[in-house]
Amino acid sequence: MQTIFETPKTIKENSRFSFCPGCDHGVAIKLVAQVLDELGLQENTILVASSGCSVNLYDYLELDCIEAPHGRACAVATGIKRAHKVQGKEKFVFTYQGDGDFASIGLGESLHSALRGENITAICINNTNFGMTGGQMGPTSVLGQITSTSPQGRNKETHGFPIKTAEHIALCDGTSFSARVALFDVKNILKAKNAIKKAFEYQKQGLGFSFVEILASCPTNWRLSPLESHNKIENELTKTYPLGIFKDIKND
Ligand code: SF4
Repeated sequence: MQTIFETPKTIKENSRFSFCPGCDHGVAIKLVAQVLDELGLQENTILVASSGCSVNLYDYLELDCIEAPHGRACAVATGIKRAHKVQGKEKFVFTYQGDGDFASIGLGESLHSALRGENITAICINNTNFGMTGGQMGPTSVLGQITSTSPQGRNKETHGFPIKTAEHIALCDGTSFSARVALFDVKNILKAKNAIKKAFEYQKQGLGFSFVEILASCPTNWRLSPLESHNKIENELTKTYPLGIFKDIKND
């Protein structure tokens, strides 16, 4: 097992960091790469990238990759998985999406992939806003959260309640695994890695749709320092989004 300080071989050499300072995407991508290494999946994997800041991961991972239209990553992953299976080939297929992509524009594709029990894995980075386009309110913005499109803060009367993606995906009969993790300290980074590993292993075992939601920082749009951002996740966001495993088909 690699330590969090080792550089996985699935990471491209000489990649240049293009995320904002303190953004958690870098840590999340490294964990994904480590798990791919440890499970020996690099050669047989097809990554489906999405729209938003998350798309940049294809600059860092040495993998076969396709970019889906906005919100359609789970639908594209379904097609790739099934098309290979028809030809007698088993490919490992996963998506890496932001919360706006997975839970707003792509909610239909995401939810129905879980309901169909597609044997793919989806990773959703939840930073509670549309990061790349300027920090607009997303379906995951918490009550009271000030964004560029909710300058008085999100309120339930006008905007409704935030979506708890991991809990919703867990309710789908085709889901094998659904968890929410965070990256604000080493203990939680290791838990996040374990959740990604379990989700990937369940796909390898053909158990159905596996899902990991990662609570992550967006210091630029939150207008906070990296440290303040992690404090916000630990002390504020986890009240709306509790961490944990919401479905594990082998242990429920
Ligand atoms: S806008 Fe937010 S999510 Fe996007 S790279 Fe910057 S900090 Fe990360």
